[in-house]
Amino acid sequence: MTDFDDLNSLLSEAKTLSAERARYEGAKQRLASQRANPNEKIDLLNTVKKWEEIHEWEPQEYILYFTKQHCRNCGAETADEALPFSRLMLASRHKRLANTSRQARVETMEMSLPAMMVVEGQEVPFCIQCVGE
Ligand SMILES: [Zn+2]
Repeated sequence: MTDFDDLNSLLSEAKTLSAERARYEGAKQRLASQRANPNEKIDLLNTVKKWEEIHEWEPQEYILYFTKQHCRNCGAETADEALPFSRLMLASRHKRLANTSRQARVETMEMSLPAMMVVEGQEVPFCIQCVGE
């Protein structure tokens, strides 16, 4: 590969990035105008989301949420080995804004990021043991 090929490759990358940024900025403006119909709005939101996923957020870790129910009536709690899965979230840090992070719901773990488990408590008025007996 010659230096000229490198330059062409860089130029091509820059053009692609520039076109993607223009599409992102255009989508944000169109959304702000509030003139998009519902189907167009979905496409615009996807364009904005896709750009921001890549350029604004740095994935940090997966968080797997489970639920532990506590029965107010009899005091029973879900056994640790039977905790139902609640949701999978991907925690990310904003690339430019210090101390800005978020969690977004995801369906699969695709990247080699660390994963942590969180058990959330949930108070319920009755459980199957109270009602079943
Ligand atoms: Zn109970």
